[in-house]
Amino acid sequence: MPLRRPDASVPPPRAGRAAATIAARLTFDQVERRYQATAALAGFSLDIAPAEVVCLLGPSGCGKTTLLRVAAGIERPSGGRVLINDQEVAGPARFVLPEKRNVGLMFQDFALFPHLSILENVAFGLKSLPREGARREAMAALVRVGLERYAGDYPHILSGGEQQRVALARAIVPRPAVMLMDEPFSGLDVQLRERLQEDTLSLLRETRATCLIVTHAPAEAIRLGDRIAVMRAGRLVQAGKAEALYRNPADLFVARLFSEINEIPLRVEGGALRTPIGVFAVPGLDEGDAAILCIRRRAIRLGAAGQGLPGRVLHARFLGDLAVLEIAAQGFERPLLTLVREWEVPERGAEVSIAVDPESVLVFPAEGRGGEEIDARGVGSARDSSV
Ligand code: ATP
Repeated sequence: MPLRRPDASVPPPRAGRAAATIAARLTFDQVERRYQATAALAGFSLDIAPAEVVCLLGPSGCGKTTLLRVAAGIERPSGGRVLINDQEVAGPARFVLPEKRNVGLMFQDFALFPHLSILENVAFGLKSLPREGARREAMAALVRVGLERYAGDYPHILSGGEQQRVALARAIVPRPAVMLMDEPFSGLDVQLRERLQEDTLSLLRETRATCLIVTHAPAEAIRLGDRIAVMRAGRLVQAGKAEALYRNPADLFVARLFSEINEIPLRVEGGALRTPIGVFAVPGLDEGDAAILCIRRRAIRLGAAGQGLPGRVLHARFLGDLAVLEIAAQGFERPLLTLVREWEVPERGAEVSIAVDPESVLVFPAEGRGGEEIDARGVGSARDSSV
């Protein structure tokens, strides 16, 4: 596409950095939002520190968008409170209008106004400033996202990635203390998405806004979030740093998000789960209770036959740098899946032995499956895995 000249009526931008804001604490305290029979939010609590970036991860319909709308003030909670810097902005005592909250909202579809130029789109949220001041600020934000050359054009000429950057510029230009982003990368192809994630994160760090970013993709949450909040059925399931959620998931649902696992249904016998790879304690479960033994794929190590639990290679699936091996292991009813480097794939039918690091085995009470609608690749896709 030919380069476009900047709008000549706009004074030159001041600098290529985003203006910093004063970050705010954002607190959800037992927030509820009911729609007739549906409880979109069912007592959601979370405290987000000033300038912290939290990714909100959860299956479709669990209430993520509703939570953002409640935080922005577009939606009123049916119960509980939302606080910004410890001041109630929504709750029984008070309701602060969206425009008074100093909260920015960026939507999944970017929602640019087709009839406004790109500069006017970015300046839209600066109505309180005199026109020239607003245009100058908007131009500086466009410079920061590298799109000043499109200032006088209209959004339809932009690619998806460029629209994302304009929407980002528009969201940061009023210097919101809190930034709420609803799946801001979901419509973009994988490579573009990764680059924009990096750019967006560095811009958010410059502005120092407190951020809550909704995503379906665990790998995206890991890459972007200082912390990750996992949500299900209108409630917080677990919040913490990605590594903590990976190492100590609160339940099977969280474990599935952050690691590709072999799930082996068993019953408690003699106070423990007895398996061919060891005996595992089951705190909180009673004799005869159904449990799931989880072995991370990457925790299974392969050796030559005779060095561990005997197994036979049934199948190998190429994933790029890695391959998934299906192994019939002695004492297990169903094959175990493990990851190996692509160049270390054994022949089909090869006799091998397997060893499992007991530290990486997790045990949970059996439950119904949940979270299928989250990006099914979890974090263990070929792109993100390493062995
Ligand atoms: P997705 O990831 O698919 O966008 P989500 O986690 O953002 O989903 P929400 O959009 O917050 O989920 O919806 C949560 C629940 O509330 C859903 O069951 C939805 O159908 C319901 N819901 C949301 N808004 C309304 C509304 N205005 N009227 C009735 N039900 C609603």
